[in-house]
Amino acid sequence: MSATATPPAATPPFALHEAGHPDVWAEFEPISPHAPGRPVKFLKDALGLTAMECSVGELHAGSGLPFVHRHRRNEELYVIFSGHGDFQADGRSVPVGPGSCVRCAPEVRRSLRSVGDEPLRFLCVQAPAGGYGGGSTIDDGEIVDEPLVWRE
Ligand code: ZN
Repeated sequence: MSATATPPAATPPFALHEAGHPDVWAEFEPISPHAPGRPVKFLKDALGLTAMECSVGELHAGSGLPFVHRHRRNEELYVIFSGHGDFQADGRSVPVGPGSCVRCAPEVRRSLRSVGDEPLRFLCVQAPAGGYGGGSTIDDGEIVDEPLVWRE
């Protein structure tokens, strides 16, 4: 597959999915029966994403993933929205909180826990390591000659 491959024809070019206010994320299904404190909503199928998996969810206050994991192909980005916790990467632990952005190469052994009395809410993006098309947003984006049509 080339870097310029187009999505399958059945994939709509635009999609909006309401994941729900973060206050209801605790009601998502657990990511695993082994991690009941880690509800998650995956977005790849809901949005028709073709180059990444994305999820939003939380770790309940004071809970953590009961395992360390790594990936075979995908790097991960974690963006913490709220709460506080510890991110473990290759045997060392760093504190994370609102605004923390963590990148893990596929081979990084990782885990995450919530500390304190509020849930740790975050976005996780997985994409093939080395799969980015290159350039920057400025290089890839282009201004289109079209009027703005904001709703009334
Ligand atoms: Zn992962």
